[in-house]
Amino acid sequence: MYAPPDNQYELGPTRQRRRSDSPGGVLPLLFEERNGFHMPFPPKVREDALVACGRHCCLCHKFCGIKIEVHHIREESEGGENTADNAIAVCFDCHADMRSYDHKHPKGNKYTESELKRHRDSWYGKVAGNIGTANRAEVVETDKEVFRLVARILPWDGSIDFIRRNHFEGSFDGDHLKDLYDFEWQCHNPAFEFIDPDLEGLRVQLRHNIQGFRDAVGSNTFSTGYGRNSVPAEWETEQPDLFKRAVGELHATADEIISTYGNLVRTATRKLGILPHQGDFP
Ligand SMILES: [Zn+2]
Repeated sequence: MYAPPDNQYELGPTRQRRRSDSPGGVLPLLFEERNGFHMPFPPKVREDALVACGRHCCLCHKFCGIKIEVHHIREESEGGENTADNAIAVCFDCHADMRSYDHKHPKGNKYTESELKRHRDSWYGKVAGNIGTANRAEVVETDKEVFRLVARILPWDGSIDFIRRNHFEGSFDGDHLKDLYDFEWQCHNPAFEFIDPDLEGLRVQLRHNIQGFRDAVGSNTFSTGYGRNSVPAEWETEQPDLFKRAVGELHATADEIISTYGNLVRTATRKLGILPHQGDFP
């Protein structure tokens, strides 16, 4: 009998899987297995997971928009099911970290399945506004405290205003970037976290933007002494394309910081009802 090439029972010399319940112990591969597909979650499970997390990554809390995927906490090859309990929505970066855990050979501080579920459930709780025993007023008070800390570490008229005005074609004093790195350092403090999911998503995004800028500074500028840094001046004449790209990357990553910072300040003003210190903000 004729079998079309894509027939799922097509047999190939290496395309077989062993199955104890079949005569001879060998079954042909299913279409999904041959093509490297996994069985997807049912649409309802996927949709519920995306709504419950507000399209924020359940691990780093970054707002992802369409750059988010619903993944299996326990992989299907390990017996994981296509259920809400086994689903977690994460960003692409966190997915890579998540997958590096091998529960057969646990080592380091990688995520365990139970930890993944706890991170997910605690984030779902935040998005749903179900934050333990705290009432709305307490949430606002807590978030105001966190925001005041943001404003103290990263005031408008410090590093933010510097990167907004500076032209990275020339050299600059590295001290002008100090607030940015202080903010990044503060992000290791577990208390430096908003309860409100929108504010928390923006805080994490700002941290990512600062990391991106720091990487751009690290790979495109060199010390010129006296604490100053610069894109090498000789690039401008000897490698003008490289010079242009380096300067462009510094400006682009700086612009991302400024844009997210503005969003965070505006969202905090709107949601927490606070007027930032006069003169500190745009
Ligand atoms: Zn993430």
